Amino acid sequence: MEKLFKGIPASGRIAIGQAVVLLKSNLFIPKYQIKKNSVSIKSELEKLDNALMKTKDELLDLKNEIDQDQSALKKEYLDSALLMIEDPLVKKKVTEKVTESYINIEWVFNEVIQEMADQLLVSKDHYFRERAPDVISMGQNVLKNLLGSVELEFPDDIKDVIIVAHTLSPPEIVAFYKRKVKAFVTEIGGRTSHVAIMARDIRLPAVTGVKDITRFTTTGTRIIVVGNVGMVIVDPEKGTELLYTKKERGQINYEKNLKKNEKKACVLKGGEKILLQANMDLEEELLLVKECGCSGIGLFRTEYIFFNRTAVPDEKEQFNIYRKIVKEIAPYDVTIRVVDIGGDKKPEYLQENEEANPFLGLRGTRFVLVHTDILKAQIRAILRAAYFGKACIMFPMVNDVDELLQINNIVRQCKDELAQEKLPFDENIRLGIMVETPASVLLLDRISKFVNFISVGTNDLIQYTLAVDRGNEMVAADFDPGHPAILRLLKKIQEIASIRRIKLSICGEMAGDPLYSLLLIGLGYRRLSMSTMRIPIVKNIILNSSIDDAKKLAETALNFSLKQDVSRYIRDEMIGRFNFLEDYFRQNV
Ligand code: PEP
Ligand code: MG
Repeated sequence: MEKLFKGIPASGRIAIGQAVVLLKSNLFIPKYQIKKNSVSIKSELEKLDNALMKTKDELLDLKNEIDQDQSALKKEYLDSALLMIEDPLVKKKVTEKVTESYINIEWVFNEVIQEMADQLLVSKDHYFRERAPDVISMGQNVLKNLLGSVELEFPDDIKDVIIVAHTLSPPEIVAFYKRKVKAFVTEIGGRTSHVAIMARDIRLPAVTGVKDITRFTTTGTRIIVVGNVGMVIVDPEKGTELLYTKKERGQINYEKNLKKNEKKACVLKGGEKILLQANMDLEEELLLVKECGCSGIGLFRTEYIFFNRTAVPDEKEQFNIYRKIVKEIAPYDVTIRVVDIGGDKKPEYLQENEEANPFLGLRGTRFVLVHTDILKAQIRAILRAAYFGKACIMFPMVNDVDELLQINNIVRQCKDELAQEKLPFDENIRLGIMVETPASVLLLDRISKFVNFISVGTNDLIQYTLAVDRGNEMVAADFDPGHPAILRLLKKIQEIASIRRIKLSICGEMAGDPLYSLLLIGLGYRRLSMSTMRIPIVKNIILNSSIDDAKKLAETALNFSLKQDVSRYIRDEMIGRFNFLEDYFRQNV
């Protein structure tokens, strides 16, 4: 039966396909019939024995490490996990089920574990209820070993895969992108969580924050994702699917229409030039960047190079990637951002101690100043790549002048080493920072003495100014780019940059939001960097607006005290004034 779900519109467009549902741990468990004879049952049970043995060894190794650390709590958990692994009841139940049903061992084992956890959950005894998550967690350790490291196999009969998951990590998004999935739906995540941003950058429709969708969807069900309005339709009726197929076609035509502007100069009606640049996360997006009609890359998030691997990429590997991008984008600029590791972006091999508040922890420049070996390899790679075109280095999450002095020192050291090694590099490379914390705004007049440019990262600036988690779907409505405090802050940044004559750009998601880009121009921003999928529509707004329109929008918005008044005004003005924008919103409803 057709079911409608609402979530957060994370990434535009409509996608229609078949669901592949991932469990909470993102393990995909296949279900199939095995041959109905004793040999295949024996072979299934042997698979389970091997997985149990492997999990036991892993737990014992972990326990040995922890013994030295004296962590009583973890040790207690490991002891009970070991007892569960050896529990003959599990083995008995699994054997009975496989023999009765002839269904593959992974599926049956998962069922047995879920049943055990369910029984514990309804127990009267608090102690037993508390054990339910441990049983699930132990079961998943065994399942990982049962499934092996084989990549997630999509069933053969599933076409146009749409991933439905509790949550997805950036490396998982990368892996699915490479496997050409059509869209994502997650239960967790806000509009500017990194998963949502990545989906936009790689142009895949996505809806986040869809409560309980994994419980109500099964693999293979037809599903429609309406990215811009945050709607998901599971098991649509024929008529609904037909309607959305038409809408999807309409969207494609609309986008084709916007392509007519691609070659036009990006100027306001009065002739004032606006620079539109692209945000890029993956090397694979290079073609999209080259074809979107932008003038270079305003933000290359390099951290994704560090994912889906087992060790830090070395200087040579990074140099090859940066040089390729710099050469392809020349004569335009490539702004290469130093790895912003931390927060929700930490490769497993760099995970040290678990952080209670990773977004306030070892992240961005703070992280690389602790791991100077990683920083130096990257700076050397960028310096060398910049020799082949135009590139600059940008540091994320800089908070104070002290950090800048350390950064400048390290860049100097890298240049000296490269000169000694007689390797070609760009001696005059420009250095910049992202303005992403209130501290960096308050110190901007001083910070600006040490850098050649600044770029405003509104995703984090909003998060840290309003104290609202950018990835939390429960506070997504409070993550408001039009909040009066944010507008004031943006104005202040622009004023300082103008007084200090420092090059200013903006690369947070707000820059590419069709509702806000003109307002930013009105606030004095002339360089906007955004996801390639947003460039055509923002350019269309620019071509159809004057500087006076933009200023009036900004001045009026700045005068409101209530955030609802700002958002109502911006929405009414923008949708009311631009027919094509109205169409854009209608396309997706
Ligand atoms: C930002 O914070 O606005 C930004 C562009 O950086 P990221 O989204 O990678 O944190
Ligand atoms: Mg940021």
